[in-house]
Amino acid sequence: GKVLVSGANGFVAVWVVRSLLENGFSVRGAVRSAAKGAHLREQFSKYGDRFGLAIVPDITKVSAFDEAVKGVDAIAHTASPYHFQADDPAELLEPAIKGTLGILESARKCSSVKRVVVTSSTAAVLHDSPTPQVFSELDWDDQAVEEVEKKGRAASNAHKYRASKTLAERAAWDFVKKHQSELGWDLSVLNPPLILGPVIHEVSSPDALNTSARQMHGVFTQPDAVVSGAGCWVDVRDIAFAHVLALQKQEAGGERIIISAGAFKWQDWLDAAPAESKSKYQKGTPRGRKRGGPPSALRCQQEQAHSGDAVSQHGGNRQGRGRGLRAKGMVRMRVC
Ligand code: NDP
Repeated sequence: GKVLVSGANGFVAVWVVRSLLENGFSVRGAVRSAAKGAHLREQFSKYGDRFGLAIVPDITKVSAFDEAVKGVDAIAHTASPYHFQADDPAELLEPAIKGTLGILESARKCSSVKRVVVTSSTAAVLHDSPTPQVFSELDWDDQAVEEVEKKGRAASNAHKYRASKTLAERAAWDFVKKHQSELGWDLSVLNPPLILGPVIHEVSSPDALNTSARQMHGVFTQPDAVVSGAGCWVDVRDIAFAHVLALQKQEAGGERIIISAGAFKWQDWLDAAPAESKSKYQKGTPRGRKRGGPPSALRCQQEQAHSGDAVSQHGGNRQGRGRGLRAKGMVRMRVC
């Protein structure tokens, strides 16, 4: 089949494209300009006409994806701003929400489409909590939405991003509900935590790295200033393959799926550095909890993940009772 991948030049998306091509799919990668697609063309040239580009200059415009969706069997919508620099929350909310609704609307009008996979985030699931809390696919980060509604520009950058992911994902499920009878496709949503791993997209300088890779880069280039955070993560290659599975598996339709490899502390990556460079980094001090510790929601996850009872493969606990974080599993839950 042929898959449209939006935001195809991004950190995660290039891996999604690669994984799809390796698994026999054809891919149309949507990017904002021809220049942003040039590297992709070169990178995937060995796949010949199984890889092509669509130029979608502004994903917030009505009907922006109408041409790009033509003839595809499925869509992987990854395009969404992920950064913590927005002053006006609309900088994040508009492309996240309008981009999602726009691509779904184009898909609604396109009879060839059978499945849409949206890359959401655990940012749409978790909220800050003063006490340890178990999160599951039943949870929504309404707290971030409320913060942004209340405080606008004064809301924290994390809340602005989290609100953009929550509102975009909610908009997607609401769209499907509203148009159910007209749709020839179903929706599958993936909710990864922090995504780390090799960078294969075009990056001009370390400063231009995507947010999560830049955090990792910072850990190695400024280990003394290492961020105190800890949390959950997933390997970019695994989340890319999860997109493939979400397209291949009938059962992924209508599901919201948290995909996490488990908990980490930034010190873990320093400890995992090759022996020859290890001495550069202070070894063995778990920095994850220094300076006040990680944000509480993430700390909760970490504690759950280390509790020894955290791994629940394939949806053992759909009600969110007891087990905590579903490390290393695809946990599925019907949300609509
Ligand atoms: P990148 O910044 O590397 O990629 C984002 C992609 O979205 C790029 O193709 C970018 O295009 C496009 N995009 C961003 N803003 C806009 C906009 N306003 N209009 C049109 N296109 C836009 O980020 P990631 O690869 O890390 O993120 C991909 C997806 O994964 C996002 O939905 C993100 O929320 C989600 N995610 C990421 C996690 C992570 O840790 N990396 C964790 C959980 C979820 P351009 O290059 O032209 O700006």
